[in-house]
Amino acid sequence: MIKRESIDDIISACRIEEVVGDFVRLQKRGVNYIGLCPFHNEKTPSFTVSPAKGIFKCFGCGEAGDSVGFVMKHEHYAYIDALRYLANKYNIEIKETAQTSEEVQLINERESLFAVTACANNFFSKVLYEHEEGKSIGLPYFKERGFSDETIRKFQLGYSPKQRDALLTYALKQGYTQENLEKAGLIIVKSHEANSRPFDRFSDRVMFPIHNFSGKIIAFGGRVLGAVDKHISKYINSPETNIYHKSDVLYGIFQAKTAIKKADKCYLVEGYTDVISLNQAGIENVVASSGTSLTTGQIKLLNKLTDNVTVVYDGDSAGIHAALRAVGMLLKENINLRIILLPPDEDPDSFARHNDLRQIIDYFSENEQDFLGFKINLLLKDLGDDPVKKANFVNQIADDIALIPDIIKVSMFVKQCSALMSVEESILYRAVNKIRIKNYKNEKDKQATGESNIAEIFTTKPQPQTLLDLTPLTLVDIEKKIISLLVNYGNKTLYLPNEDPLAKEKTMEVRVDQFIFDNLRSDEIGFETPLYQKFYNAYVEIVETNPIDITNKLKQYPDAEINNLYLSLIEINPTPSPLWESSKVKSFINTIYNNSEKLLEEVMRTLQMLRLMKLITIKTNYKKLLKEAKSTDEALMYLAKIKEVNLISCEIEKVLGVTYR
Ligand SMILES: [Zn+2]
Repeated sequence: MIKRESIDDIISACRIEEVVGDFVRLQKRGVNYIGLCPFHNEKTPSFTVSPAKGIFKCFGCGEAGDSVGFVMKHEHYAYIDALRYLANKYNIEIKETAQTSEEVQLINERESLFAVTACANNFFSKVLYEHEEGKSIGLPYFKERGFSDETIRKFQLGYSPKQRDALLTYALKQGYTQENLEKAGLIIVKSHEANSRPFDRFSDRVMFPIHNFSGKIIAFGGRVLGAVDKHISKYINSPETNIYHKSDVLYGIFQAKTAIKKADKCYLVEGYTDVISLNQAGIENVVASSGTSLTTGQIKLLNKLTDNVTVVYDGDSAGIHAALRAVGMLLKENINLRIILLPPDEDPDSFARHNDLRQIIDYFSENEQDFLGFKINLLLKDLGDDPVKKANFVNQIADDIALIPDIIKVSMFVKQCSALMSVEESILYRAVNKIRIKNYKNEKDKQATGESNIAEIFTTKPQPQTLLDLTPLTLVDIEKKIISLLVNYGNKTLYLPNEDPLAKEKTMEVRVDQFIFDNLRSDEIGFETPLYQKFYNAYVEIVETNPIDITNKLKQYPDAEINNLYLSLIEINPTPSPLWESSKVKSFINTIYNNSEKLLEEVMRTLQMLRLMKLITIKTNYKKLLKEAKSTDEALMYLAKIKEVNLISCEIEKVLGVTYR
């Protein structure tokens, strides 16, 4: 664990514009910087960085955060790795809290395995470029495949020489132990007897290092060159180790992650060279499942980046059948699965080499089809006219559809698939619902705590979607507005008419947050929405200890819900174009932002709205009690109370110019 003081040092050293500026070209615009958002595709900049607030916010896609958050999102780092990155950037020494000896041992073991794989990778790339054998055997192989030097370096490709203990000898000389080389899967020790000599796992092969999500090398794939002997497999991979769990890894994910996020889409291929060739051709959002059929771990990894996965296979690939089996798993995780079949005799690797980027993109967009539709067409071919076979087939497809958690998608698929299979929609719906209920019950039996909603399952039928909620402002909206005023204007000053007529000053100054606290306290108003109440409590607590530094304290508050709410509500003066500077909009914005009278009006209005909402709730309550009244006296009392509430709420409505009934 990093010590709290170190975390504070790192965070206070960060200049958001420098941190973001390492990845995004920023232009100064007023007090802020703007640039093209790295998290979604855009042509005009709506990505804003506020040095004063220490945060970034995109008005296009809504991503927002501070320096740490930016590094986490952009590099897909865990919190701790983002801190280490920033510490390194600003040359801050990290102090760590003491760990238990087991923790230390585990971390040390993983760290030393990472060190060993890094050493091996250095060795393989050095051999490829500097060693005679690498230059005459390894490099020509890659060049023949059309890989450029840039690509070779990007994927850190290498060559492992013929000498059976070349890596072992090199690594031992560098100070690494035989034990760790074995634990990292790099050497094979047949027996631990003294006279038995260990040897390299990957000799005489071109090397493909496998990176984890954050770019550390965790394993290797090695391809044998020349005539393939029956006894030697073409590709071999590192075994499972403490740092390599095959089922949780996708080849190319480190190089592809930013492109996947940006395109909100991932192409899935089978082999290393498929990934590399497509990448070199300009399709960067591509990863490979490396021979294994997809696993849940791999899907979870993709799910961090996108919901849209398209498998790219050659027409007669064994991968299609693997994907057909995996389809249920993908649908369950709410992945939108599509497929592209390549022309006969092409695999993604050769296809990428035979076509330019334009041609690839065109082919992909013309030939992409939904996977369920693809499956139906594939299976329909073998079906014939047998009604029993057809019924089985419908059930099989219903099985797939029933796995989709999103009911809107379910109804979409039912429509599509029933048309493809020439079955009535209602028949397919019945089949799907039957399976959903069965699945639900099974799930329920498995885990008694299952939260999914049975009502939702029963109501899965085609129905018009309510697109707009036409109710005007609700209590929740107003509560949110109050929180938003605190977040954005809490430390601003209001000038109120002085209530004491004898006082020298005509106005008195009060901070917006203080004004809101006083009002809510005197009316004994709390928040109905638990999250807003929690945020309000946190805000009060912070202001009481440190009223100056609220922004930072809220950003770093040790509760993700609070940080997120803060980030979703914080406003940065949007200044997207020079046109803006002179437009009316700017003067309007300025009025709200800088005019204390307007601000006062806004705060007062919001507070009054809150009061009104509360009164309406109270009135509804009294009306209910009135209906249940057991005596005339009781009924009269409630009537009087209702009248009283009516009077006050009418007053407020008059002031606000609104009517709520
Ligand atoms: Zn954006």
